[in-house]
Amino acid sequence: MAQKFVVAMMMHETNTFSPLPTPIESFSRAGALSGPSAIKEAEGTNTSLGGFIEVARKAGAEFTVPMAASAHPSGLVTKAAYEQMTTAIVDEVKKGCDAVLLALHGAMVAEHYDDGEGELLNRIRNIAPDVPIAVALDFHTQMTEAMIKGASIITGYRTYPHIDMADTARRSGRTLMRMLAGEVEPKMVWGNRPIMSSSLVHTPSREPMKTLMGMANQAEDSGHVLNASVFGGFPQADIPHLALSSVIVCDKRTAEGEILLNKILDTAWDRREGFLFHPEPLSVQVARAKSLDGGPIVMADHGDNTASGGTQDVMSDGTFVVTGPMATGTTVRMGRTAVLDTGNMQIVISEKRAEPYDLGVFTHCGIDPRRKKYVLIKSRQHFRAGFEPIAKHIVMCDGDGCTASDLKLFKYTKVKRPLYPFDLDMRLGRNEA
Ligand SMILES: [Zn+2]
Repeated sequence: MAQKFVVAMMMHETNTFSPLPTPIESFSRAGALSGPSAIKEAEGTNTSLGGFIEVARKAGAEFTVPMAASAHPSGLVTKAAYEQMTTAIVDEVKKGCDAVLLALHGAMVAEHYDDGEGELLNRIRNIAPDVPIAVALDFHTQMTEAMIKGASIITGYRTYPHIDMADTARRSGRTLMRMLAGEVEPKMVWGNRPIMSSSLVHTPSREPMKTLMGMANQAEDSGHVLNASVFGGFPQADIPHLALSSVIVCDKRTAEGEILLNKILDTAWDRREGFLFHPEPLSVQVARAKSLDGGPIVMADHGDNTASGGTQDVMSDGTFVVTGPMATGTTVRMGRTAVLDTGNMQIVISEKRAEPYDLGVFTHCGIDPRRKKYVLIKSRQHFRAGFEPIAKHIVMCDGDGCTASDLKLFKYTKVKRPLYPFDLDMRLGRNEA
């Protein structure tokens, strides 16, 4: 008899400083929140839900998708939205299944829970103590003990911009299938270091994260451990568990995983200065852009970007299918969209927020950014997926907004202290984090 899987997505990166609340409507922008039409929307796309559907199909399993919710980063998830999403997943698991495959973000904060994913996993564990649970997470996860206790297997994105979302689910799914076949017995070890790493400088494609992610990738790809992931955390969140973390999935014995874990985290702590972003005045950045030859010159304002929870209101039907490397195959719906042409400048105005990670934000309304001298976008890092290949120069711009990278602008009251870089003179013993 075919195995039965429950596959679900519940994804949100919560910027607790964002004034935009996150009701259920924000999660259903693609239409259906569950069932066959949600499967149709996600299947074959470069997303973790797409990856898990592929895993279930390849396994020949019967599967249901009781929830396929994903929203742009914004403020706290409303209590009603959180309860609707988690209840749908928990109720489906209650009917009985052989495995649960969850596409989660790892940085969801609800009105009534600081750790949205930990609470969901806890609820599933309470009704299904022994069912294998495979989880794929975003690189910006704020890892908690509750997530580790609830899940059997955890993997995280290796890239930022996130161009390996489906692959992250496949990595988790591969270990799950071996677990179901009785080949392996996953055991997770995890840890963190109290570092608030700036999302402008913590991409795994550059140092200092490159070395850390390299250690994790090497250990997993060589089969030394089942899975290994490093998480940068998401700084625009005032929660107690904000930190840089790592999770190693071991087979039966955890000793070697613990050695790898400490090596990754100790290296992160040694290199903590590299995770700091040093802001400079916007006027200096604009002057630099003016002085550059050729084009396109991409000017990326990271103080108000959607993918970190910005409102994008400090400033045709806008629907297109992504062709670039990030979230390939998914449909972006920007709402009603207009182009204002001033003669020197064309301005794309859309009804809804959208992170510009794909050239489609311009090309779908007839603008070819490759032929422009300056391309101004509100983005932090994801724009690199679509725009880095066409940019002659990139100038990062420190605009105003609730996603600003100068973290001194935010008032944190719930984060655990000491925390680097707030407490620069802190010392760290191996087990203090
Ligand atoms: Zn992310």
